[in-house]
Amino acid sequence: MRKNLFFVLTGPSGAGKSTLIKGIKEKFDLAFSVSHTTRAPREGEIEGRDYYFVEESVFEKMLKRGEFIEWTEVYGNKYGTTKKEVERLLRGEKDIVLDLDLRGALRAKTVFKDAIVIFIGTKSFEDLKERLRKRGEKDIEKRISLAKEAIDLIANFDYLVINGELESSLREVESIFVSEHLRTRNINLSKYKEDFFK
Ligand code: ADP
Ligand code: 5GP
Repeated sequence: MRKNLFFVLTGPSGAGKSTLIKGIKEKFDLAFSVSHTTRAPREGEIEGRDYYFVEESVFEKMLKRGEFIEWTEVYGNKYGTTKKEVERLLRGEKDIVLDLDLRGALRAKTVFKDAIVIFIGTKSFEDLKERLRKRGEKDIEKRISLAKEAIDLIANFDYLVINGELESSLREVESIFVSEHLRTRNINLSKYKEDFFK
């Protein structure tokens, strides 16, 4: 009766997208879309779980072969979602979660069928800077300059979660997931009818 939905988390780097996805995965049976990136792994990141880490030349070859359903370049690194990854996830029955930059998120509704896009922000610019500092980010200035532009794009997305206290943000994201599954357009109504008259 339930359809599998596409959820996209977007927002400035350091707002807490990965942290929230990790938290939600503990409660919901979700399939995370693992992107390819030319960025070097951060401490604790695992190949194939967080990203597929590839050399620039490999990424370029994949790009030429048309392997990406969408891709972007941010903070001097390339990131992309392969058709293969999305097809693999669509074969399953789980909701699919993507972590995309703002450009990817703006295109998400056309690229990924009926994607539900959640903007993850912080209460203030200072909070964002502090989180990037805490993560040991080297290119803070680059990441911060994009964050300023991000604020004017929020109206393009479906939801805004201001990630202050982590537990309450997690509850907010969870409630979005639950509510979206109650929308009539996200329910297989013919299956419901079939079961009702059984
Ligand atoms: P993003 O994936 O959006 O770039 P991360 O999930 O990597 O951001 O979070 C950036 C940093 O902020 C990490 O060090 C993370 O532990 C921390 N963080 C995330 N959410 C919170 C929160 N609600 N309160 C305090 N720190 C947080
Ligand atoms: P980070 O280096 O902090 O992991 O990610 C940098 C940015 O790239 C984040 O905004 C993240 O959402 C975005 N990103 C990661 N993978 C992809 C992808 O496959 N496509 C797009 N469009 N953005 C991605």
